[in-house]
Amino acid sequence: MRLILLGAPGAGKGTVAKMLTALDGSVQISTGDILRGAVKEGTELGKKAKGFMDAGDLVPDDLILDIMGERLLEDDCKAGFLLDGFPRTIPQAEALKGMLSKLGIELDAAVNLDVAREIILDRLTTRRTCSNSACQEIYNTKSKPSKVEGVCDKCGSPTIQRDDETEEAISKRLDTFNEQTAPLVGFYKQEGLLLDVNATSSDTVVAAIKAKVGL
Ligand code: ADP
Ligand code: ZN
Repeated sequence: MRLILLGAPGAGKGTVAKMLTALDGSVQISTGDILRGAVKEGTELGKKAKGFMDAGDLVPDDLILDIMGERLLEDDCKAGFLLDGFPRTIPQAEALKGMLSKLGIELDAAVNLDVAREIILDRLTTRRTCSNSACQEIYNTKSKPSKVEGVCDKCGSPTIQRDDETEEAISKRLDTFNEQTAPLVGFYKQEGLLLDVNATSSDTVVAAIKAKVGL
């Protein structure tokens, strides 16, 4: 399947994407993961992106479009892809449209994961992520704690709170989302691609997507 996952930070895009890859071998492409990898490795891209990310701002469109222009050409995309965290601005959505039409690829849907702001705030402040970049398992101190506090069940690395998951950065990320990314819902509605789902439970979201793409 070929999907865009839209939704505020903490709406569960990453969780849903992981559940969907298991269904048909589609690959999850998370621009956030790609950027965090680059920051950790200290590449040029990482150095340019870090300040924006820590502040809860978006990384400039041209950097993101360079990354995605290359990523979509990779072989693993042939089985399908789940875009998690991209596009995030109208110019990114327009550019994606151009890239896909050049490649002769049609999307199945742009899924809008809709969750109340209070639920999002609660999820983000309690989120912990495995610090091992090859693992990145996500925990939640309330709903999904690791067996040993602060240690990843899967690989034993420390679990951490991301630099952009302080209360201040979270509130900034939600504002950024409302200003720059929320308008994409209207964009994809006009394109005839929008699938709106209540995302309080990831299972419900996955069921709605399966029905939509006929799995
Ligand atoms: P979340 O969805 O939880 O906010 P992500 O992991 O998707 O987090 O992204 C983390 C940060 O990476 C964003 O706050 C932003 O700074 C940057 N980023 C990720 N994807 C994009 C994008 N498509 N455009 C601009 N910035 C991005
Ligand atoms: Zn781990």
